[in-house]
Amino acid sequence: ASRAALGACLKVQLANSHRTAAPVAVVYIDLDRFKGVNDTLGHAVGDALLIKVAERLRSAVRQSDMVARLGGDEFAIIQSGIAQPQGAEIMASRLIDLVGRSYALSGHIINIGASIGIAISPDDGEDNDTLLQHADLALYRAKTDGRGTFRFFRSDMDADMQKRRQLELDLRRALALKQFEVVYQPQIHLENDTLTGFEALLRWRTSERGNISPAEFIPLAEELGLIIPIGEWVMRTACKEAVGWSRPVTIAVNISAVQFRDNKLVAMVSSALAASGLDPARLELEITEGALLDNTSTVLQQLNALKALGIRISMDDFGTGYSSLSYLQKFPFDKIKIDQSFVRGDQSMGGSAIVRAVTAIGVSLGMKTIAEGVETQEQLERVRADGCNAVQGYLTGRPLAAAVAAALLHEPAISSTSR
Ligand code: C2E
Ligand code: MG
Ligand code: MG
Repeated sequence: ASRAALGACLKVQLANSHRTAAPVAVVYIDLDRFKGVNDTLGHAVGDALLIKVAERLRSAVRQSDMVARLGGDEFAIIQSGIAQPQGAEIMASRLIDLVGRSYALSGHIINIGASIGIAISPDDGEDNDTLLQHADLALYRAKTDGRGTFRFFRSDMDADMQKRRQLELDLRRALALKQFEVVYQPQIHLENDTLTGFEALLRWRTSERGNISPAEFIPLAEELGLIIPIGEWVMRTACKEAVGWSRPVTIAVNISAVQFRDNKLVAMVSSALAASGLDPARLELEITEGALLDNTSTVLQQLNALKALGIRISMDDFGTGYSSLSYLQKFPFDKIKIDQSFVRGDQSMGGSAIVRAVTAIGVSLGMKTIAEGVETQEQLERVRADGCNAVQGYLTGRPLAAAVAAALLHEPAISSTSR
C-alpha cells in the first residue's frame, strides 16, 4: 500500500479503537545499508531488492495487518486486534530476522538489515500525525542505538529530539559566528623526551551553553554534512598556525570518514598547504578505522594521493574498531596511535600486553607508534618499556590555546620524564 492508503487505514483503525479501546501499533521499518546496494549494484537491483523485502514483510504479518511503503527504503505496518506491546515486539523481532537474511539477486548475494520504531495507540498518540511522528522518533533511536534493532517510543525521545534540533541550529550558525577554536596538544618523542609535534583539536565555545565537547558535536556535524566546511576550516587554521611556529614540528589534523566521501579532500588539503606555505612533510592526517569501513577503494585512492603530496597518515584510536589489523595491511600508515583505553585501562585486563604487541607490529611494518591518553608517570614508563615511540596525554601537556602552544616552542626541549 502507499503512504496515503496507510494514512486512511490508520484513521479507520484509530476510530474503531476509540470504541473498542483496543490498541493499534504503528511499526516503522527502515532498511540498513540499502544505499550501498543502490550505489554499488545499481537501481535495478535496488528495486528488485525492495520487492523482495516487501514480500518478506507481507509473509510476516497477519491478514488484517497493513504493509505500506512510505518511500525510499522505508516501510510501515499497522498492527491491530492483538495484545500490545507483546504483539508488536514479536513482530519486530521476526521482521529483523527475516529482512536480515541474505538475498540472492542477479548473481549477487546481498545482506541488509532493518531498524524498527514502534508507537502504540492510545498511549503514544490518538491521531495519525502524533502516532506516525512518534514511530519515526522511535525509529531514529533504533538507528542511533546501532541499527538492526527495534525501539518503542518513549516520551523522553521527544525532548531529546528538541534538544538535537536546537543543537543543529546552533551548529549551523557556529562557523559564521566564529565560535570554533583549534587547540593544540603536545606530542612527545620518547627517545630524547622532546616535543616533536602537536595534534589540532577542535573546540566549540558558545555563550549560551558553554564549551561543547567534540565528542558531542562531531557525530552530529558528520550526520548533517557540516563536518566538510568545519573540517576545512580546522585544516586551514592549523596549517596557518603551524607555519608561524619557531620550530618546524609536525601538526596532526583529524579527518572524518565523511570527508572522504565528498571526494574533494585531496584538493582541499593541497589548497590549505599552498595557501599557508606549510611544508607537506610537517602535516599528518589522523584517520579512524571508520574511514576505511565504507568505500575502501576510493578511500585508499585518496590516501595514496595525499601520501604522494608528502603528507603522513596516522591510524587514530587504534584497536577500538572492528578489524583493526586488516586495515594495517591495506594501507602503509606512517603512525599508529594506540587508543587511550589500552594505555589507561585496568592493567589486569592486559592493556600493557596489547601495547607491546602493537609496538612490535609497528616495528615489523615500519610504522611509528604513539600512546594516547597518558596521564601518570607510571603509565608513561610502562608505555616506554612497552616500546612506544611517542606519547600524547595530560601528563606531558593538555590541549593548549594557539598562543600558548607557540610560546612552548620557544622553551628549550621539554623533558617528559622530569615533570
Ligand atoms: P582523538 O583524535 O583521539 O583526540 C584525543 C582526545 O583525547 C582529545 O579529546 C584529547 O583532549 C583527549 N586526551 C588527550 N590526552 C588525554 C588524557 O591524558 N586523558 C584524557 N582523559 N583525555 C585525553 P577531544 O579534544 O575531546 O576530542 C575528542 C575526539 O573528537 C578526538 O579524538 C577526535 O576524534 C574528535 N575531534 C577533535 N577535533 C576534531 C577535528 O578537528 N575534526 C574531526 N573530524 N574530529 C575531531
Ligand atoms: Mg586524533
Ligand atoms: Mg585518538
